[in-house]
Amino acid sequence: AYLRRVADAGGASILVPRGLSPGDCEEVFRRLDGLLFPGGVEDIPPSFYGEEPVEGCVCTPNEAQDALEFCLLKLAIERGKPVLAICRGIQVFNVALGGTLYQDISRQRPGSLSHHVVDITGNEIVHRIEIVPGTFLAGVLSTETCGVNSRHHQAVKDPAPPLHVCGYAEDGVIEAVELPGHPFAVGVQWHPELMNTAGTTRLFEAFVRASAGE
Ligand code: MN
Repeated sequence: AYLRRVADAGGASILVPRGLSPGDCEEVFRRLDGLLFPGGVEDIPPSFYGEEPVEGCVCTPNEAQDALEFCLLKLAIERGKPVLAICRGIQVFNVALGGTLYQDISRQRPGSLSHHVVDITGNEIVHRIEIVPGTFLAGVLSTETCGVNSRHHQAVKDPAPPLHVCGYAEDGVIEAVELPGHPFAVGVQWHPELMNTAGTTRLFEAFVRASAGE
């Protein structure tokens, strides 16, 4: 779905393999125009943000995936290359810049909406989000509220200091962040690649345009 939505927006994707040395990671990075950080099953080790694991954390780290994504994300932020970070991606984005996560929303934030609803297509709307007016994301989506899917059990807790929160769920859970001053660095907690809406199409089109230097 990620590749199809990038292609529909006019971009060509390549998949970057795990296991690259830091030098090779940088070599590959130089050849990319933009980076999409996808969803994933394994939670980021809580030690990355200075916490011990709590019950509910899926603490079977994928060290190769973490090494690759943290390396590429830091390069993209340092060098101003477009970033679209989705689901686990927004969590990597936040932790890489110094933020923390809810290790398990239902245990650490009782009373929250049900955010971990894995329907088959991913096209079902699970909850609404408010987009903060005047943010970069509000400009891209051209809306201040929309319905989203929700397939996550973790979320941004303390946003990294340089990030601005640009989207909240109805229960206050952070659903989108962006990095001001960067050409395009947006993280979303939902899965836009699975939703066939005008807003998600605009998001992929804006990412591909930014990656083309437009
Ligand atoms: Mn959600």
